[in-house]
Amino acid sequence: TRIAVLKERAAGETRVSATPETVKKFIALGAVVAVEQGAGDGASISDEAYREAGAAVGPLETVVKDADIVFGVQGPDAALLAGAKPGVWLTAALDPFVKRERVDAYAAAGVEALSLEFMPRITRAQSMDILSSQSNLAGYKAVLAAADAFGRAFPMMMTAAGTITAARAFIMGVGVAGLQAIATARRLGAQVSATDVRSATREQIQSLGAKPIFVESVAGIEGEGAGGYATEMSEEYQKAQAELVSSHIAKQDIVITTALIPGRAAPRLITDAQIATMRPGSVIFDLAVAQGGNVEGSVADQVVVKHGVKIIGYSNTPAHLASDASALFARNLYNFLSAFWDKEAGKPVLDEEIGNAVRLTQGGKVVNERLLG
Ligand code: NAD
Repeated sequence: TRIAVLKERAAGETRVSATPETVKKFIALGAVVAVEQGAGDGASISDEAYREAGAAVGPLETVVKDADIVFGVQGPDAALLAGAKPGVWLTAALDPFVKRERVDAYAAAGVEALSLEFMPRITRAQSMDILSSQSNLAGYKAVLAAADAFGRAFPMMMTAAGTITAARAFIMGVGVAGLQAIATARRLGAQVSATDVRSATREQIQSLGAKPIFVESVAGIEGEGAGGYATEMSEEYQKAQAELVSSHIAKQDIVITTALIPGRAAPRLITDAQIATMRPGSVIFDLAVAQGGNVEGSVADQVVVKHGVKIIGYSNTPAHLASDASALFARNLYNFLSAFWDKEAGKPVLDEEIGNAVRLTQGGKVVNERLLG
């Protein structure tokens, strides 16, 4: 099996889909690995380091030529895969709902596209789950970015010049990113509260030493929710949630929003009127800014100041932690393909449950249920 590791072409993408560590491991499975020159630049991995791990390093055409599997962090243009074997696998975070035209182009080009963010949220696939590995880092970075933009300190400090009070941080959406945001804000010394629509998160919030803030008058989503995911909430719930947020948010210094709904625009959690009740100098970090935003007025990669409140959010938060994000992404991809490596065939052979979940295109057609449904 010939594996090609591409240099990312999307603006602001610093990550890379294989590291010298995973290159070695794929070679140990019997694969031949070629890395596009400069692929690791953004993650501080040199071409030399890939060569030392046993990869060939070269320009795009030679790397992709006769490839059986092409690795990316984000999806490349289908045209870049010309020269690969017919039926070449492409494994990357393909953002299929948003980049649907590109998925169609993969089908037309005879590429078998596997979308890593469609990995099912099941126990045996946890180690393959890029959404989790990247969200975890994003939750951490969001708190650091908010702390950096904040004109005050997080912890309470008793100094000879007087005491400064601890910052109050409110985390909205307690999935993987939100849990890490709670933990990070706590480590920095903030007083932390958090909310979610899924009732299962209440205990998780408490166990991290934060205060749960929940809508009590209208039922949220019992337990984990379908597949662990939230759905769009009823109008009644949204109204109750807006009232709750309004009364809580005015006392907060830092708000981190992380709420996503798969396949839809992110839910609006904070309105401009609510921002107006916050103290000047407060900071909101909108982790959902690239999915439409949880916060009214947030703009990706800009600091927007409204009513004296700074609203920030990155279009690609994991890319701000390129080395760790690449290391974990690369391991997820290795854990995925190695789990299905068929020694006799000398290549991965997917099972139905995971194969059907991640496969978008096959035999010239779009085949994924979530895209056809
Ligand atoms: P996500 O990124 O899809 O959403 C972030 C959080 O926002 C979720 O907790 C969601 O409930 C919440 N949210 C959505 N709408 C909201 C609203 N209107 N108001 C407030 N909060 C809202 O979530 P995620 O981080 O991908 O995690 C989703 C679930 O999947 C969790 O239960 C997690 O534990 C589970 N999970 C399971 C596995 C596995 O078993 N392999 C791996 C990772 C995550």
